[in-house]
Amino acid sequence: LLAPDGSARPTIFAEMSALAARTGAINLGQGFPDEDGPPEVLEVARAAIANGVNQYPPGRGMPDLLLAIAEHQHRFYGLDLDPQRNVLVTAGATEALAAALLALIDGPQDEVVVFEPYYDSYAAVVALTGARLVTVPLRWPHFQPDLEELRAAVTDRTRVILVNDPHNPTGAVFSRELQDEVVRLAHLHDALIITDEVYEHLVFDGPHVPIASLPGAWERTLTISSCGKTFSVTGWKIGWITGPARLIDAVLAVKQFLTYVNGAPFQPAIATGLRMPDAFFGEISRTLRDKRDLLGSGLRSAGFDVSLAAGSYFTIADAASLGATDADEFCRALPERVGVVAIPLTAFVTPERRTEYATLVRFAACKRVAVLEDAAVRLAALA
Ligand code: PMP
Ligand code: GLN
Repeated sequence: LLAPDGSARPTIFAEMSALAARTGAINLGQGFPDEDGPPEVLEVARAAIANGVNQYPPGRGMPDLLLAIAEHQHRFYGLDLDPQRNVLVTAGATEALAAALLALIDGPQDEVVVFEPYYDSYAAVVALTGARLVTVPLRWPHFQPDLEELRAAVTDRTRVILVNDPHNPTGAVFSRELQDEVVRLAHLHDALIITDEVYEHLVFDGPHVPIASLPGAWERTLTISSCGKTFSVTGWKIGWITGPARLIDAVLAVKQFLTYVNGAPFQPAIATGLRMPDAFFGEISRTLRDKRDLLGSGLRSAGFDVSLAAGSYFTIADAASLGATDADEFCRALPERVGVVAIPLTAFVTPERRTEYATLVRFAACKRVAVLEDAAVRLAALA
């Protein structure tokens, strides 16, 4: 995690957002929205601060938020959760992932199977646990794993199969066949499933199906989500993890020494968000789908090959059709060339697999329409 000179290596997101700030380029790199979330959610946080909800909340999370999370899992997925035993509030999905992996990994003999490319914290946290990272590639243009490769990756050494659906960075939504196979393999090899579903409400041809709702999955699955994407408040860092009581207790044991508890005034606000009417949830995915289409057509007009996302904030484009051979160089030059920042897919892969992803670039669609239109005009200069 350190650079050769001993300094902390910035994440690709910090690096690319700094590049955008320095050059004044449009930031389609780091995935965060450029508009605030629902006013009624923001207002509850404001009122909570004004009304003295400013001290340590309970370690598992404030009871009404635990209840709202349980209600949400029932309303959307038909899951029946005990709010006090099956739910834990965390500092975003990032802490949920770290606490879950630290809790479940026993030692260096354990393996964690992840789909590659992967969200950057996965490999970093697996490294902190000392376990071995085993990757299953997702290949351009559909980014669905090959079931044979998945079967070969999961063995009796596998402690955790780590899923992310909808998937960052590729925008893939996994097939039911793949989900069933993950559950089957977890049973066969007595592995646990951790599933990161922070984009659960940002699927374009829904509905989203959580692995935990599939037959035989619940007892060995921890499901992670977060307020950031659904309510456009990525800076609030309220996440949650749901699953069987014995696994949640193991995660809580670690979590209490990582952050102890999380932002009190945000918790009632997120409870309000989770209880928003169905129309809100339908609207956020439709709006983002339109933005994905706008971004996709801008990228095509600019000469990229595009793999349109099925979910998430992101869409992948291949810059090979523009003559690029190295997306890393391409992305570093892009702000100066046309005033747009994007992220090379090589930032999300193991060093051994860099060449397979060498010309692919991730663009974020979670920006205002006017910003995406401006980006399309700028990118057209590449054609
Ligand atoms: N998982 C995935 C797949 C993500 O894209 C992100 C980024 N937002 C996170 C986890 C981290 O979420 P949070 O900000 O809630 O920690
Ligand atoms: N999840 C967002 C992304 O993938 C931002 C993550 C971050 O800045 N750590 O771009």
